[in-house]
Amino acid sequence: MELNVKYMTRNDCFTAGRKITPKGIMVHSTATPGVMAADWFSRWNKSYKAGETNRQVAVHAFVDDKGVWQYLPWNHRGWHAGGAANNTHIGFEICEPGGFSYGKGSAMVGYNVSKNEDYFRKAWQNAVELCVMLCRQYDLTEEDIICHSEGAKKGIASNHGDVMHWFPKHGESMNSFRAAVGIALNKTSSTVSSPTSIQVGDVVEVKASAGKYYPGGATIPGWVKTGSYHKVTQVVSNGKPVVKGGKTCVLLGKKVDKRKGKESTGIMSWIDVGSLIVIVSKSKEVKKPIERNSLYRVQIGAFSNQENAETLLEKVKKAGFDGFIKKG
Ligand SMILES: [Zn+2]
Repeated sequence: MELNVKYMTRNDCFTAGRKITPKGIMVHSTATPGVMAADWFSRWNKSYKAGETNRQVAVHAFVDDKGVWQYLPWNHRGWHAGGAANNTHIGFEICEPGGFSYGKGSAMVGYNVSKNEDYFRKAWQNAVELCVMLCRQYDLTEEDIICHSEGAKKGIASNHGDVMHWFPKHGESMNSFRAAVGIALNKTSSTVSSPTSIQVGDVVEVKASAGKYYPGGATIPGWVKTGSYHKVTQVVSNGKPVVKGGKTCVLLGKKVDKRKGKESTGIMSWIDVGSLIVIVSKSKEVKKPIERNSLYRVQIGAFSNQENAETLLEKVKKAGFDGFIKKG
């Protein structure tokens, strides 16, 4: 997926400058045949207030068969839903191919499915990849993705039919789109076979420099960093590495007293492994007995009489071994 970033700084939505914490993604399609992602910049980078356009509209990105054009920062409040979803959802438009027109309502007249199949698959794939990227960045899952018409049914968007007037022509739906994002999300994370060198049982300290538990997550309170060490109680969930905000995370399930090592109820938060310092490593403890500089001692006799012990030591030394007598 090719991502081009070019903010629409002239658009009133951009200058309004409101931020959101993305809780979901809304998929739209343009209902404008043949206008591709790069072309929307000059169409929408205009000010309604200044009388340059008759529409107050802005989305975060447009997607076509070539890639993605991002026109607003992802955490900027967009004007795409015509409802409350603007406060929570990142919105992007999938560009529709040319060669047809719109009839009544949202009927695509003269839309040639087989001719457009190749375009549709490429645009679909780019939309899936964009959603995977955003899910990682904002700790979302495929369940947090809806299209405009689904948003209308939920009462958080205006009454538009996209994308369900189009996807079914190619045998797809929002359910199959979400499934494709879900598979892509899991596939990539399961290829990380060893997500972290940190193991269950390791005692860790949270770095003083760490700000959030993971990108997009909650801020770490000071007492979590200075109050105690923490014991890692989970490194996978449902057999998979846990990736939040694009970072591999482990669960801090127990607190460990810094001086006495006493364990108590943990903070039960997932945290990016990059924010941790290992204090006691379980895996290194297990490896200790096979370290090369370990010594193995062999005792070959125990005597109550010192003379007998010295006699045996002489024999051992003559045989070419080093030895000593230890009184115990
Ligand atoms: Zn829409």
